[in-house]
Amino acid sequence: MMNIPLLVSSMLERAERYFPKKTVISRTSSGIVTHTYKEVGERTRRLSSALEKIGVKKGERVGTLAWNHHRHLEAYFAIPGIGAVLHTINIRLSPAHIVYIINHAEDKVLLFDEDLLPLLEKVKDQLKSVEAYVLMTDKEELPESSLEPLFHYEKLISEGDPSFEFKKDLGENDPVGMCYTSATTGNPKGVVYSHRGVVLHSMALGLADNAGLSESDIAMPVVPMFHVNAWGLPFASVWFGTTLVMPGPYFTPKILAELIDSEKVTMTAGVPTIWLGLLNELEHGNYDTSSLTRILCGGSAAPKGLIRAFESKYKIPFIHAYGMTETTPLVVLSRLKSYQNDLPEEEKLEIRSKQGSLVPLVEMKIVGANGEVANDGKEMGELLLRGNWIADEYYKDERTNEAFRDGWLYTGDVVTIDEEGVVKIVDRTKDLIKSGGEWISSVDIENALMAHDAVFEAAVIAVQHERWQERPVACVVLKDAAKEHTTKEELYEFLKPQFAKWWLPDDIIFMDEIPKTSVGKFLKRALRDQLKEHLSQVK
Ligand code: AMP
Repeated sequence: MMNIPLLVSSMLERAERYFPKKTVISRTSSGIVTHTYKEVGERTRRLSSALEKIGVKKGERVGTLAWNHHRHLEAYFAIPGIGAVLHTINIRLSPAHIVYIINHAEDKVLLFDEDLLPLLEKVKDQLKSVEAYVLMTDKEELPESSLEPLFHYEKLISEGDPSFEFKKDLGENDPVGMCYTSATTGNPKGVVYSHRGVVLHSMALGLADNAGLSESDIAMPVVPMFHVNAWGLPFASVWFGTTLVMPGPYFTPKILAELIDSEKVTMTAGVPTIWLGLLNELEHGNYDTSSLTRILCGGSAAPKGLIRAFESKYKIPFIHAYGMTETTPLVVLSRLKSYQNDLPEEEKLEIRSKQGSLVPLVEMKIVGANGEVANDGKEMGELLLRGNWIADEYYKDERTNEAFRDGWLYTGDVVTIDEEGVVKIVDRTKDLIKSGGEWISSVDIENALMAHDAVFEAAVIAVQHERWQERPVACVVLKDAAKEHTTKEELYEFLKPQFAKWWLPDDIIFMDEIPKTSVGKFLKRALRDQLKEHLSQVK
């Protein structure tokens, strides 16, 4: 058979040629704009040529700090189109982490939305590799800025070459993009995606039993484009000629509901917090959501009540899926098998609320204390993965050795598997708390607390939260001498300047002792149980 490299640029070329009239509907800070794939293709080619003119070369990284909109989509293809690497940066990270990852990735150019301008101005002197900034804005003129040189995205595009030829002298294993993911402690870790991985993963999104994405869909990725490439939906949608609806900056549940109604969105994807918000909005407003044929939900466990509400009340099928930054991300997805359709509703819900079955082309192993676990839905083990869109290292990072061993990715997720091969996540070995789809490092908060003079020791654990799925709660043992006079408020004041507001623990609980393992590590599972009791008593 022929051996033709799988390149991301061929996806956009397909959209230009076979779906020139299909559209990308984008909400920006000043309204809704629509472009056809023909126009998106032309604008992307112009951007590729402009980036080359600024001096970006093959293999170099171009960072984006942006929401989900058409310009970000153009960057998705223009950057790889010249053989450079699309580095999507999580705008919700702390400034220190943002500086770290820009320097670590050695981004040469940054494309960014206007709301990120103050942040970039503040940290610009710490950015070691950045040679140019490009502002993605609807406004005609550039604002006054200390960033230098600063280009206007639309002006660059207007001066670019509409018939620029995307680079074809690339290997399919060459990097196409990168994304940093939070670590238990310390700086985020970079994952590099290859052209091959992204193309094959996009194909998987189109499979009927996965996301079933197709030309006839109107897809709205709510999951951010800086979070595992919005789960790969922008790439796959362009490839299949799917209409895209981009929800833009600072969207609210109301805006999402309006977009679903007005644009007749058929599929959408995001974390449970988004769907809890939408559910609340649907209950209060008057929206037509009948166009929706499915909601894809992942990133955190989908509560049963959420699945039930969408399916029974709004008749919108709700698909639970699991993945991670290291896995591009789709690896496990929950669907009923054809012979399970007649099961009682509660039983079906039970199956659907698990994370699901492995998608084709990915392999897994679940390893417990005594080797691979039984398929009994009870024995727990760590989930190990391998496959064509699973990373095999962290970018220039020693922590590679912890997570990637013997040809497998050790996910740090503890799971069970039942006799039908359905996986359920039961715990996490990583000391991280996932709040509204974003990570909080419990270890970082513990270390900060333990740096306070009055604190003897501190452990931070995740407690379940209706809206945010998980929230941090700090358990603190005070030094004897400080017990009398130290208050929660004092500790909060101490933490506030060190962390983003959403990182602050929901509660600080004083204790006499923190349970520990035989080797002196915090026994967080025991602490969680202890706290459950405490919280129920408080109620
Ligand atoms: P990220 O790399 O930020 O996408 O986060 C990946 C991690 O999120 C996984 O390792 C899991 O701990 C968690 N996760 C993702 N999807 C789910 C899900 N459906 N249910 C429970 N946890 C999930």
